[in-house]
Amino acid sequence: MATLRDIVDARVREGDLYEKLDRERVRCYACGHCCPTHEGQPGVCKVRYNRGGTLYVPWGYVGGVQCDPIEKKPFFHAYPGALAYSFGMLGCDLHCAYCQNWVTSQALRDPQAISPPLEASPEALVRDALRQGAQVLVSTYNEPLITAEWAVAIFKEAKAAGLVTGFVSNGNGTPQVLEYVRPWINLYKVDLKSFDDHHYRKLGGRLQPILDTIRTLHRMGLWVEIVTLLIPGFNDSEAELRRLTEFVVDVSPDIPWHITAFHQDYKMNDPANTKADDLLRAAAIGRETGLRYVYAGNLPGQVGELENTRCAFCAEPLIRRHGYLIDEYAITPEGRCPQCGNAIPGRWAAEFKAQLAHQPFLPHHRRPLVTIHTRR
Ligand code: SF4
Repeated sequence: MATLRDIVDARVREGDLYEKLDRERVRCYACGHCCPTHEGQPGVCKVRYNRGGTLYVPWGYVGGVQCDPIEKKPFFHAYPGALAYSFGMLGCDLHCAYCQNWVTSQALRDPQAISPPLEASPEALVRDALRQGAQVLVSTYNEPLITAEWAVAIFKEAKAAGLVTGFVSNGNGTPQVLEYVRPWINLYKVDLKSFDDHHYRKLGGRLQPILDTIRTLHRMGLWVEIVTLLIPGFNDSEAELRRLTEFVVDVSPDIPWHITAFHQDYKMNDPANTKADDLLRAAAIGRETGLRYVYAGNLPGQVGELENTRCAFCAEPLIRRHGYLIDEYAITPEGRCPQCGNAIPGRWAAEFKAQLAHQPFLPHHRRPLVTIHTRR
């Protein structure tokens, strides 16, 4: 039986996002690391590698699939109530000690992360998404930028079938990869983990490429929402949260900012779990700074109004939520406040349909995707 490394290395095709350098080296542009890679070596992500002066990239499998309410991504201003068919791949360009998806993201770096991939094709994934009743198809659970070519192949098929597409990403992009995905993607969630470059370096990245990505995505007209996992003692100082939210306001005060609660996971077991009061304090900073849509996540029922959407002009309640469940929906088919008539920033369906699910579930497969068995 093959190892995970053998399987991943065999399911590849030549990438689009690279240039050839001298002495059989290549430079990859799928993420902000822009790795110059020697012959026979993988990049930092461990899933793109140089063989004979050609960059090979993942193709033909997924790390897992799940049907999620779109609120779980989280997108709160994009097709509320929609079912988001979500697929992940393996590997990541960062190595966050608190990763909640470490089983897939660190699969090729950490021997404890065991995640057998599933055979997949764009056609089979889109067929399955439609069969589950999904309106949205999302690349998530690991970093989608590092498998951008494969995501675009799936998204082309998805768009032809009328689905909305999205990335849930750490935002460590490059101009090249963002231009590459732009025609095929509607929604983009960026995880803005900190506003301190030293913190980003501990996670294996840099702050500036993430900030550049947020500005570029907004300029391109993609729908962007930002999430910050609030970790006590790591990224929750008032000064850092002020700088972070001032940056977002400068891009656009209409970008929704989600502050979510940390719980101990993977290798980060020191900080206390985030409390509701911590989220309320961070939310107050975001509002004072000028953000119009601030939400608190991961502690349903404990954060009062911070699960709901109100009109930023007249404070009319527009969407009431409890966790991923939508209790009330009042936005007009034109995406406006029914009280004052102002446009609410986001991507709104002409009609709010009942939620298919407000909890994640595994797809009910008629023809299941096939597990590729591995040994360690
Ligand atoms: S995706 Fe990022 S980490 Fe992976 S090879 Fe390309 S530049 Fe390096």
